[in-house]
Amino acid sequence: MIVYLKTNTSTTQIAEMQLHLKQAGFESYLVQQPNICMVPALKDPSIIERFPFISGFKLISTAYQLSSNEYKNETLFEVNGVQVGSNFANIIAGPCSVESEEQIFETAAFLHKNNIKFIRGGAYKPRTSPYSFRGLGKEGLKLLQEAAKQYKLNVVTELMDLSLLDEVMAYSDVIQIGSRNMANFYMLSELGKINKPILLKRGMQAKVNEWLLAADYIMSSGNEKIILCERGIRSFDPMSRNVMDVAVIPLIQSLSHLPIIADPSHGTGDSKLVPIMAKASMVAGANGLMIEIHPNPSEALSDAKQALNFTDFETLLSDLEVLKPAIKKPIDASYSVFI
Ligand code: PEP
Ligand code: MN
Repeated sequence: MIVYLKTNTSTTQIAEMQLHLKQAGFESYLVQQPNICMVPALKDPSIIERFPFISGFKLISTAYQLSSNEYKNETLFEVNGVQVGSNFANIIAGPCSVESEEQIFETAAFLHKNNIKFIRGGAYKPRTSPYSFRGLGKEGLKLLQEAAKQYKLNVVTELMDLSLLDEVMAYSDVIQIGSRNMANFYMLSELGKINKPILLKRGMQAKVNEWLLAADYIMSSGNEKIILCERGIRSFDPMSRNVMDVAVIPLIQSLSHLPIIADPSHGTGDSKLVPIMAKASMVAGANGLMIEIHPNPSEALSDAKQALNFTDFETLLSDLEVLKPAIKKPIDASYSVFI
């Protein structure tokens, strides 16, 4: 249950209510100081009705509470003046890994030329083999931020471990939580305490319920700036890297207020399949795309097979322009800003 509190409620009053709830056996989470307190197990509000600073209650019917669209209709926020969420479609593009000054500056200049507002690039990479290229670390973050500054881009980069939080915070505008960390619940709670948007990728084995509950971990600690990202799920078939779940886009939008973008690069693992799945995702109602690109894909140090070259990426952008009239959220709204 969501408990709404009057704006002038003091921290002492809130603490008193939370103690009362605890004594009655209910954990509570102050989600939006001082207005919203969440008490997931509470079904009957009568035990706290007597507190005069409570302005209302809302019972949420699903296990995931704060990511549910019963909690709110839409999530809308800005990243340095760029709107994210609701009807906005954003493109995030860049290499899998930051590899060199030349590579990242060339990519940033290209994105700027195409009016893209977000650059991606990993500096600490989750690689299956410890013997593969694992990123340039802090040096990579510095290069990424310098290139982004020069070309007025926002940085999206992955946080692999909480020990790197301060460092990644300092060099990024959006923190990516990769597929492998979607279920790192302690990490997710800690990310609820920071004031930076989180791009939460779907775990490669995650059910929709589990993914939304992962978002609840972040939200219940206070951070509501979340972008979900579908990146494909594992299957039995070695023919494709992952199975890209395009249907999950309208499904999530029928369940949650959180924006959802699609990553057809990891979703397919194949640069030949990326453009068509990118278009399919946008037509399915995605709030944006994350695409891996590289100035010279065959030389990429990670995920070479799935990176688009600049020419193919530009073709995709112009195809998306043509598709614009078909690109609508399935429910009601149309896109007011695109790329
Ligand atoms: C990535 O975006 O480079 C990445 C490693 O993604 P995922 O966590 O989806 O595998
Ligand atoms: Mn990658």
